[in-house]
Amino acid sequence: MKEAAFWCQEGNAVRCTLCPHFCLIEEGKNGFCGARGVRDKKLYALTYGKIAASAFDPIEKKPLYHFYPGHKTFSIGGLGCNLRCRHCQNWHISCCDVGGRLTGMDEISPADAVTLACDNGCESLVWTYNEPSIWYEYILDTAPLAQLAGLKTVMVTAGMINPDPLQTLLPHIDAYRLDLKGFSGDFYRWLTGIDCLDQILENARAAYAAGCHVEIVTNLIPGHNDDEVQLRGLARWIVQNLSANIPWHLTAYYPNHDLKVAATTTSALERGVEIGLEEGLSQIYIGNLPGHESQHSYCVGCRAGLIMRNGFQIIENRVVNSCCPECGIGFENYRG
Ligand SMILES: [Zn+2]
Repeated sequence: MKEAAFWCQEGNAVRCTLCPHFCLIEEGKNGFCGARGVRDKKLYALTYGKIAASAFDPIEKKPLYHFYPGHKTFSIGGLGCNLRCRHCQNWHISCCDVGGRLTGMDEISPADAVTLACDNGCESLVWTYNEPSIWYEYILDTAPLAQLAGLKTVMVTAGMINPDPLQTLLPHIDAYRLDLKGFSGDFYRWLTGIDCLDQILENARAAYAAGCHVEIVTNLIPGHNDDEVQLRGLARWIVQNLSANIPWHLTAYYPNHDLKVAATTTSALERGVEIGLEEGLSQIYIGNLPGHESQHSYCVGCRAGLIMRNGFQIIENRVVNSCCPECGIGFENYRG
């Protein structure tokens, strides 16, 4: 077992200081996330190196559209989560009896994860599926090795982590793909069971300031976070605190897990794009809606098509030296 980082003794219990839950954990018990537990008065990372899900994917599937388009990535995820999203697509690994499932799980050491990625032609390693921040020690050990081997490192995260651990991790993270679920504390509490919106926003600023490539996804849930006030607030926050050129992915929701409202309509997604454009964002994508014209990238100057996609496939990438080949204007917040 790997001893955890970021905890302190408090009376006869242990206080985990990794995420905003600040769980006070008694001997023999586990924290809210299920992935960290107290044994012999110390906090341990119970899921270290234990792989609950893995896949070789196009980076577009994460989705990351401006980050070395078209490359293959190795996606891995662990057990447990520090959120309880009603519509979680990965609830069978995120919202489960972590302790009861640990024995017999596949284990991959940090070095082996890097080797697997390289041997299979991947150019990046992505921590995804459940909230990666609760896999903290494993990522902190793996990310530097991955970078040394020439891989890019990516966190697909809901941003549920405290500032100090995040700062320690950020130098080893190349891309920070944030799920920004809405723009009200009430909505967050309803959807995820927690309200840490301020911390999540602050973490996004920290990641961008540290030089991470940032892309943001918002899954539009009809009647819950697709109203004018939240979408405008989100878009404005991104423009004012990160950059007007941050890619913003508005994705269609489909009924899942404990949430069974109707799926997002095309017109609601298109209205979201309009609002984002009105607030000054330049790169807004519609996701989970194959064939829509907003799956492509366009030049902010001349509107020429720059990167044409078909689902997760790149049909054509015309970006030259991070610029439009037609008018020469820069394609910002792009790495390739
Ligand atoms: Zn152009």
